[in-house]
Formats: sequence, C-alpha cells, structure tokens
Amino acid sequence: MTQPQRGRRVVIAGGAVMGSATAYFLANHPDFSGEIIVIEKDPSYQLCASARSAASIRQQFSSAINISISQFSIAFLRDIGKHLAVSGDAPHIDLVEGGYLFLASKAGAQQLNQNHQLQRSFGADITCYSRAQLAQRYPWLNTDGIEAGCYGTSGEGWFDGYGLMQAFRRKARSLGVRYVQGVVEGLKKNECGWLVQLEGGEQLQTEIFVNTAGASGGAALCRSAGLDLPITSQKRMIFPFECKEEIRNLPLLVDPSGFYVRPEGKSYICGCAPAANKDPECFDFAVEHDFFMEELWPRLAHRIPAFESLRPGLAWAGHYDMNGFDQNAFVGPVPQLEGFYLALGFSGHGLQQAPAVGRGLAEHIATGTYQSLDLTPLSIERFWNGTPLLEKNVV
Ligand SMILES: Cc1cc2nc3c(=O)[nH]c(=O)nc-3n(C[C@H](O)[C@H](O)[C@H](O)COP(=O)(O)OP(=O)(O)OC[C@H]3O[C@@H](n4cnc5c(N)ncnc54)[C@H](O)[C@@H]3O)c2cc1C
Repeated sequence: MTQPQRGRRVVIAGGAVMGSATAYFLANHPDFSGEIIVIEKDPSYQLCASARSAASIRQQFSSAINISISQFSIAFLRDIGKHLAVSGDAPHIDLVEGGYLFLASKAGAQQLNQNHQLQRSFGADITCYSRAQLAQRYPWLNTDGIEAGCYGTSGEGWFDGYGLMQAFRRKARSLGVRYVQGVVEGLKKNECGWLVQLEGGEQLQTEIFVNTAGASGGAALCRSAGLDLPITSQKRMIFPFECKEEIRNLPLLVDPSGFYVRPEGKSYICGCAPAANKDPECFDFAVEHDFFMEELWPRLAHRIPAFESLRPGLAWAGHYDMNGFDQNAFVGPVPQLEGFYLALGFSGHGLQQAPAVGRGLAEHIATGTYQSLDLTPLSIERFWNGTPLLEKNVV
C-alpha cells in the first residue's frame, strides 16, 4: 500500500471549483501536513466553466458512480454553511431543490426505466410518471410524443455555482492553501517528482501535481506530461428569458429532443447541445443567437406552449471539458506517471461532482487510497483497457 504522503508539496493547476475543492479537502485532511499551492491563470474566473455553468445537480444518471457522487454532493451542499464557514461567516449558495424532470419518448422509455431502477436501488428519491400522470401534474406541458417522465422529488435542483467555487477557495485559503496567479505551461518528470514550468520561465518542483485545468488547459497539460486523452473543449450556450405567464412548479425539464429549461429566480434559463456535426472543438465565447431562434425556441415552445411568447435575456457561452471516450470524467492518479493526478473530462456535470471528487482526490493524495467513496470506476485505466463507462444521461 502507498504510504501516507505527509509533509509533501502538492501543486494544483487550475483553481476553479475542482482545484479549490481538492485544495480544501486536502488542507482539511488529518493525514496531510504538506504545502498546497494552487496555480490559477485567471483569478477573476470570468471565463471558466465553473463561472458559466447552469449549476444544477441531479441524481438521475445512468452510471452507479455518478449517482453515489451526487448523493454525497447534495448532502454537502445542504450543509455548506457548516463545512465552508470561515471565522463563523457561512457561505450561501441558494440551493433550490426543484428537481429534474427527464421526459422520454416511446423510444427512450425503456432506458428511462432502466435508469430509474438503478437510481432507486441507490435510494435516490426519483418518481416515474406515465404520460397521463404528467399531463395532470404539469398542466402547462404538451405531452405529444412523450411516453413517461422521471422526477427527482428531492436531492436535485440548482444553486449558485460561482458561489460554491468561491466558498471552496475562501475556505482553502483560510486553511493555509497558497493561490498563485500564473499559467502552467508544461511539466517535466524528474527524480524528485515534477518540475512545473510557469509562463515567464519560473519553475516549481513538486512531488504531487494535480491537473484540474478544465476545458481551457487540462488536455494540453496532460499532453505535456506524455498523456494524450480524448478530452476536448465544446461550446455550450445558456439562454436566459422571461415569460409573462408563470409556469408553476417547473423543475429542470430535460426534453427528449435534447434541450433543458429551468427557472432562475423569476426568469428561466435554457440550453441544448448542438448536433454532433455542428459541435467542433472550440475555445471562443461567441453566442450564436440563430441557434436560439432556429433550434431551441421552437422546441421549447412546442413542449411548453406558454413559451411561444417570451423575452430573451443576455445569453452567454462556456465550455464543457468533454470526454469523447465515454462522457465521464477521468479522476485520480495516473499509474504510469507517479505523482500525477487528474480530474478532467466532466462532460457537463463537474460542478455538482466537485465536493465528492475533491474529497476523493484529497484522500488518495493523503493516504494512497479512497477512504469514503471509491472513485476507481472513474480511473483512467478504463481508457487503457478500452472499457468505457458510458454515461447515457448527458445534458
Ligand atoms: C454552459 C455550461 C453549463 C453547465 N451546467 C452544469 C450543470 O448544470 N451542472 C454541473 O454539474 N456542471 C455543469 N457544467 C459543467 C461544470 O461547469 C464543469 O464541469 C466544472 O465547472 C469544471 O470545473 P473545473 O474546475 O474542472 O474547470 P474550470 O471551471 O474550467 O476551471 C479550470 C481552471 O483552470 C484554469 N487554467 C486552465 N489552464 C491553466 C493553466 N495552464 N495554468 C493555470 N491555470 C489554468 C482556468 O483559468 C480555470 O479557472 C456546465 C458547464 C457549462 C460550460
């Protein structure tokens, strides 16, 4: 068994939600007493996924590990004030447990049922409704083409994602974690671990390196360590809008056509993945308004006719760190690269996974194993072995 890593230096590249969650849990771990340095290229965090997310959490996944991760995360979010208060000042992330409603067509109903059974077997509070029950429960819903729907009665909803990231960061700093503004340009392996090369020529020696650099930098940092992964940066846009008519009890609705919509205060936000042939790797932040007008709005208004009349707000774009192998993250140590850890490829569900993944990475760095939740199913070894852990519920 790997020995506990007391008194070591850990360098984390990327200090948004994943890097900051890892830093917090590590600084708080009783078996770790080393130095933690977070290198972040943009302390304003304005462009990172953590700041541009729809910040929603669900139990409705098709992979067991993702359900277990969400169960820890929701418990953590509910008690965030207890976990992340600094000098008695508790953060607020405005968690709304409004539930997800996954709708399925006839073709998708079997998969919905399979997922539901798996989710229930893990104790997730999900209820399945027939078309007739949906029509009765949600009078504003057009149930054309819908066979069934699954609703998260508790444990699912949305929150202030930027607030969560800042709460982790603030708590980590209060525990002695050092945040340094800088760009990690590359890595070199040597007999003492990793030589981290920063923009401007500075170098930093560390025994443990953690790559939480997300869509904008994570894959490149892997490549510089000799690891070529199928992780790409895919643009996703969020379109806010207002509607005069109130849609009562609207959960985060996921339509079989691929779009989602949820309340945001008194307004709404929605989004949709583009068709595969219109989804190249990209790093720009341009909002494609035609996409809303031509692709999204018609589907939205078809499913919820009250949305035929709406007023669009100020839309924005961000990037998923998409794992083309199986739409699940690679998390944990990389066995071929001693002292190299990663948490990358979250494919649009990383914000809600940050508490469990940060805790898991910290445990592994501190003790050599996962102590609370075994994150081995997300290990990079599945990529080497050619055994994908395909997540079928990607929103
Ligand atoms: C539009 C949109 C909607 C989403 N909706 C949801 C949702 O509803 N629920 C959910 O759970 N997830 C959602 N996600 C996904 C979620 O936001 C991400 O999975 C999560 O924020 C990833 O966090 P991260 O810290 O790994 O990466 P990021 O937030 O991208 O942070 C990476 C950080 O690394 C820094 N960095 C990059 N390269 C370097 C370098 N070389 N040196 C130093 N620093 C570097 C960056 O500046 C950045 O701050 C959404 C994402 C988007 C874009």
